[in-house]
Amino acid sequence: MKGMALLNLNAAPLSIGALTHSFASMPAGFYARQAPSPVADPAMVVFNDALAAELSLDTVSCPLEALTAIFAGNALPTGADPIAMAYAGHQFGHFTPQLGDGRAILLGEVIDRAGSRRDIQLKGAGRTAFSRGGDGRAALGPVLREYLISEAMHALGVPTTRALAAVTTGEAVLRDRPLPGAVLTRIAASNIRVGTFQYFAARGDYDAVEALADYVIDRHYADARQAENPYLALLEAVVARQASLVARWLNLGFVHGVMNTDNMAVSGETIDYGPCAFIDAYDPATVFSSIDDYGRYAFKNQPAMAQWNLTRFAETLVPLLGDDEQDNIACATRAIMGFGAAFDNAWLAGMRCKLGLTIAEDGDRALAQSLLAAMHKDAVDFTLCFRMLGEGLDGASARARVLFQDKDAFDHWREAWHQRCARESMPVGLRAASMRAENPAVIPRNHIVEQVLAAATRQGDYAPFHECLGVLLDPYTDRPAHARYAEPPAPGQSILRTFCGT
Ligand code: AMP
Ligand code: MG
Repeated sequence: MKGMALLNLNAAPLSIGALTHSFASMPAGFYARQAPSPVADPAMVVFNDALAAELSLDTVSCPLEALTAIFAGNALPTGADPIAMAYAGHQFGHFTPQLGDGRAILLGEVIDRAGSRRDIQLKGAGRTAFSRGGDGRAALGPVLREYLISEAMHALGVPTTRALAAVTTGEAVLRDRPLPGAVLTRIAASNIRVGTFQYFAARGDYDAVEALADYVIDRHYADARQAENPYLALLEAVVARQASLVARWLNLGFVHGVMNTDNMAVSGETIDYGPCAFIDAYDPATVFSSIDDYGRYAFKNQPAMAQWNLTRFAETLVPLLGDDEQDNIACATRAIMGFGAAFDNAWLAGMRCKLGLTIAEDGDRALAQSLLAAMHKDAVDFTLCFRMLGEGLDGASARARVLFQDKDAFDHWREAWHQRCARESMPVGLRAASMRAENPAVIPRNHIVEQVLAAATRQGDYAPFHECLGVLLDPYTDRPAHARYAEPPAPGQSILRTFCGT
């Protein structure tokens, strides 16, 4: 693909479909216009045809060279109006009034097959007005990591931003050493964050907060418009979606790792795949991120941190809620307090599904928690244990038993669980099948992710990446030929630290 850099921006009409720009019609202070900066020698590593089809993109007839140029930032597709969005954020509890897209450029939006508006954004496409000291670029390792994990999360049924393309740039990015550069094309329901609201609230610009709230209601929470108090309804709806999102993370053993308010999307999608990782051996105190010194974003702290972020969101909306500030604060507080029950209910509903239960009983929380306590005590692999539980339901030997050191504790728990199951009249085969559909065989395990990224970034060998991606896109199916993806790390293989890589 040499010579790609010679492609003149806008020289040839390159259409990928009808781009729209609802966010670019917001007031000027919401963003800065910024074209991507071309790269030396782009090459397409992976393109997500299924997602392109879902987005109704017109890419099938587009030559690879043109797609590569577009998703490297070397050529703008017809109708693009590239912008970098402004936002602020609390990072590890400390407020920075201006962050913004320092290396991400929104090309535009498309209306997908389901009629939803989706953002098309290049990440690593060069400096913007918000780059501060950064180079505006991304390294290949983190780009492939985001591609793999965000697509795996989607396959696991978690609301998330998606990955459309990864392109290498042929340029080095300087981190602690030179690394191969890349550009990721990220698709999102929108890129509006809690930090976007904070950006305007911190400036005392409540006209802008109101315009943003109206935009978010129209785009993501149309029902709130009909409510007696639409902004309160917006707050309640965002709280509800985050509660259900974080419950899903905990049901799968996912640790986001950097839940700063600029990394919380108001749409309710998981966004910003930096140091995130999945738990192997179950330990609720797990922290992977190398910069999370105090475990602020540890696995078990995620609900509390989500609620903390939502409180920052609520603060920005308080002046919009009505005429009496004390009343407004009381309403917002009630909405935020609702997070606890919403999260607990969603988490427990998820655990019931994992345990093959369909009817709610009072003792279910205690039943789930006693299993988790036994798993923690014996450092049992979270994903494998739930996958194995459904096997041997017919009274035969329980495969999961081998994972526990304390066999008595497991047998005791299993007896209680079997008695609980017996109070529901579901045939054993059906229960086993429902558990297989709830408990994945494969998740993006850290040690595997590291292996495939090392092959790609050090040897330029993308075969392991493609094989791994294929397996992760079908996480509920057993694949004897690819058994190693389902296995926990061998002793010494565990990856306990992850890096943002920005
Ligand atoms: P993150 O830790 O990825 O959520 O990024 C936090 C902030 O730093 C955001 O405003 C990013 O746009 C910005 N940022 C991260 N990496 C870079 C980079 N290489 N160049 C410019 N800005 C960056
Ligand atoms: Mg971020």
